[in-house]
Amino acid sequence: MELDPKALELFREGYDKILAGLGQLGYKVDDENFADTAVRAAKGFHELVLGETCVRKEVTALLEKTFPAKYGEMVISKGNTAFGVCPHHLLPVVYRISVAYIPTRKVLGLSKMSRLVRLMARGPRLQEDLTHELAMILHEQLDSQGSAVYIEGVHMCMAARGVGAHEARLVTSAVRGVFLELATREEFIKLVTSASSGLL
Ligand SMILES: [Zn+2]
Repeated sequence: MELDPKALELFREGYDKILAGLGQLGYKVDDENFADTAVRAAKGFHELVLGETCVRKEVTALLEKTFPAKYGEMVISKGNTAFGVCPHHLLPVVYRISVAYIPTRKVLGLSKMSRLVRLMARGPRLQEDLTHELAMILHEQLDSQGSAVYIEGVHMCMAARGVGAHEARLVTSAVRGVFLELATREEFIKLVTSASSGLL
């Protein structure tokens, strides 16, 4: 996905200030290891925070490529690794995202489901909001019978504050439609939290 040149420039200016701050702390930021660091850091940050409009456009395009549904069974995409940043600290968050839906008429290809969750994660979003937005998209925009989302996020802001790795993990989930029924919701949670079968 395209990076916005104006945003890149603003991020670079910000990283120049961060480097000046590091210099203030006594680090040798004129050392060759820091040459072009602001440019690289700006690009790295932009890759975690894609343009809101670009993401929406791609998500819409992605949801248009569906197959006719033959079965009304649960479709699950489990344990997708995705990246983003938290809006409170702008520090990276690593997500493991599982999503499911029960189709009415349309089925989304599995690779499209992975792409969808990875795209939506790449912004300064609250994990709670990401969870609900994904559930909404897979229910309303896909016209499904219902959807469910389960996300584990490892937040650098929590990990970096000296909280143990376990406590730095935030778990959120959301359900819509038929998944509101307890049995369906439990089946989903059981499927996404069980250890993988060892395939690959
Ligand atoms: Zn944070």
